[in-house]
Amino acid sequence: MGRSSKDKRDIYYRLAKEEGWRARSAFKLLQLDEEFKLFKGVRRAVDLCAAPGSWSQVLSRKLRPFVRCCRVKESSEEVKIVAVDLQAMAPLPGVTQIQGDITKISTAQEIIRHFEGQAADLVVCDGAPDVTGLHDVDEYIQAQLLLAALNITSHVLKPGGNFVAKIFRGKDVTLLYSQLKIFFSTVTCAKPRSSRNSSIDVDFNQLEGPNRVIVPFLACGDLSAFDSDRTYPLQLDSEKEYEYLPPTQPPIRPPYQQACHLRKNNLLAKEDSPSAVLDGALSTMNL
Ligand code: SAM
Repeated sequence: MGRSSKDKRDIYYRLAKEEGWRARSAFKLLQLDEEFKLFKGVRRAVDLCAAPGSWSQVLSRKLRPFVRCCRVKESSEEVKIVAVDLQAMAPLPGVTQIQGDITKISTAQEIIRHFEGQAADLVVCDGAPDVTGLHDVDEYIQAQLLLAALNITSHVLKPGGNFVAKIFRGKDVTLLYSQLKIFFSTVTCAKPRSSRNSSIDVDFNQLEGPNRVIVPFLACGDLSAFDSDRTYPLQLDSEKEYEYLPPTQPPIRPPYQQACHLRKNNLLAKEDSPSAVLDGALSTMNL
């Protein structure tokens, strides 16, 4: 497969490179904002699970437009954006980074400290665990991430502020909705056009009677926007010739880097020679 095949299969991956976004997810936040006007009046924002940083880029570009074009400096300087992730992330203008685990109390405390008693207007969380392919496990870990994000949000978000989070619509989703409903007067499930259809996108409602929760479902993003599940030709229009572009910001120290190094050097454990890779070192177990 050629290096341009992903550009064909995933139009938002390709557009992200063309527009200088670090990841295709940028379009999800932009499309959500089209519908919900999330950035209106926002001066302080938190981006949880932020790496490689496309949502932080969106926040930086949208909340600090004056600094970018060097016109009115002062008003944009008051804007505070904090990004948190397990992974290291390349710096972004106006974004303070915390490298940490959002399920740990120490990370939560660091975020809260950073706001120095002031409340955030917006918290976003695009957290996703490394997907195992076992749907129940993936969905459970995703839900735990969302609850950790909600925990932090309950400490930093101002009353009436907005919380945007990725959710897997699996069989326990209504339990999550009911937990969110405790803190927020309005809970909406929205699917931006740039978000791809997932195989676990099935709605189960396991709560019954007075506990049953129904939240509005909304598709957002202009109907004329690209369809994320379609394959497009490389030549999109007659005026602009297709050119392959590398990713805007390759990940720094990605978790798979070590595995790539081991595979390249033929150091991965093999079935017939009992060995194990532990903490960056190759240790051979003689059984
Ligand atoms: N919103 C990001 C963007 O637009 O570039 C993409 C986020 S990516 C889909 C999910 C991120 O969640 C990963 O970078 C991963 O490291 C992070 N993550 C997963 N579990 C986490 C945790 N417990 N604490 C902090 N970050 C976590």
